Amino acid sequence: MLLHVAGQMIASTDELTHADQATGDGDHGIAMARGFEAVRDLLGSHSYQDLGSLLKAVGMTLVSQAGGASGAVFGTLFVGGSRNLADKSTFDAGSLASFLGDGLQAVQERGKARPGDKTMVDALEPAAQCAKEMAADPLEEAIVAVAAAACRGEEAARALVAHVGKAKTLGDRSRNHPDPGAISVTIILQAMAEFVVNA
Ligand code: ADP
Ligand code: MG
Repeated sequence: MLLHVAGQMIASTDELTHADQATGDGDHGIAMARGFEAVRDLLGSHSYQDLGSLLKAVGMTLVSQAGGASGAVFGTLFVGGSRNLADKSTFDAGSLASFLGDGLQAVQERGKARPGDKTMVDALEPAAQCAKEMAADPLEEAIVAVAAAACRGEEAARALVAHVGKAKTLGDRSRNHPDPGAISVTIILQAMAEFVVNA
């Protein structure tokens, strides 16, 4: 599943570059591609006994290879999200809820962005909430609903003014543009859903 996520992120480089050119410095697509190429290499040459070590290794790779704000933010999502999955070897809806809930908490502790600040938190927070509500449901149902929740959050954030990150300097001119990081959260969760549904 994470290999499919990496492939979809790499394939989205231009879309993410374009989004970051409108409100930031244009490096988000390149940073994420660099990070997920390293993740793809890592997963091609290592195997993990439990979800915790897998997700943590992915996060550490993103921190060290993607660099910049997004390396820290998305690395923290995966490292923080791995926190309570050390004894789990099956990725079910409960694991998804744990990953997104702990990941969101870690991202907010680190980056201090709140919902409404026009960051990836605006896609991640509704996704984590949906995952929590569906933690006892079949994974195929939960992951599809979670990806849709992230997508709605990303779309709603377009109307917001940025209060965090490089887009903040645009002030009111950041309105009516998507947030690149929120698009990335949506792509990651949509790729997970595609993989689970087609597996
Ligand atoms: P940089 O801002 O260093 O150029 P990127 O362009 O790769 O980094 O990533 C920008 C994205 O990172 C933003 O769209 C936003 O979603 C996310 N981001 C930036 N700062 C924060 C933060 N403090 N908390 C959460 N997300 C953040
Ligand atoms: Mg940028």
